[in-house]
Amino acid sequence: TRRRFKEVNEEEKAKLVGNVFTKVAPSYDLMNDMMSGGLHRLWKDRLVSKLHPFPGMNHLDVAGGTGDIAFRILDNINSVSHRALKNGQAEGEDDTKIYVLDINPNMLAVGRMLDSRCLQWVEGDAEALTFEESSMDGYTIAFGIRNVTHIERALDEAYRVLKRGGRFLCMELSHVDTPLLNKCNLRLLLVFSHPSNGEVVAGDRDSYQYLVESIRQFPKQEKFARMIAEAGFQKVEYENLVGGVVAIHTGLKL
Ligand code: SAM
Repeated sequence: TRRRFKEVNEEEKAKLVGNVFTKVAPSYDLMNDMMSGGLHRLWKDRLVSKLHPFPGMNHLDVAGGTGDIAFRILDNINSVSHRALKNGQAEGEDDTKIYVLDINPNMLAVGRMLDSRCLQWVEGDAEALTFEESSMDGYTIAFGIRNVTHIERALDEAYRVLKRGGRFLCMELSHVDTPLLNKCNLRLLLVFSHPSNGEVVAGDRDSYQYLVESIRQFPKQEKFARMIAEAGFQKVEYENLVGGVVAIHTGLKL
């Protein structure tokens, strides 16, 4: 597997990633629940709570897939607006713009079908965003950056589109140091992305095997934090969930 991974060139990587998500798109949400035992919901809630969404914000969720993160952000903002309204404060929800960007139209199509709340669905590449410089208050990428061909380019783009004071948040399957948890990590990794699971769901063992390898090759928490800082972000921090099975990295554009 390792050899095959190395032999895969950038063009092939993009194609493999495309194949996987085209095939899993219709069952993606169900698959996430099955494979994480529902845990991905708690992790995503945690990510959104760290974003501190606010009414009227411009937010970009990259590799947003079927909109799981974006829907949560909107719910969070609606509850803030509702509280403000109850307290007699003005509601800013109308100006809120939440963009779900994904390279795969099939994933977006599934999300769009579920959307009765006017998210903005955009087909695009994390490495070459079409948004203007300093146009976003927030940027999230959940379980997406691992699939991007050039991580640095995606980080540079995140920095470019954020306003000063804008928040960057990235959630990704990561690395566990303690041996006991490592076992747990391995188990979760298997559950999340074992080729046979992938095969069942995606019908394509090679593509899924490749994704498993991409988890192993993803930079460790400290290294990824340095990469985020190198893109220009400040106050870069990370939080491990389940001992590092998942990590949330955050940074600010100041
Ligand atoms: N963020 C969603 C979630 O947490 O449920 C979806 C995550 S899904 C595991 C990864 C997504 O990344 C897929 O929808 C895939 O199409 C998208 N993706 C892969 N490479 C991308 C790129 N270069 N630019 C934008 N999206 C990309």
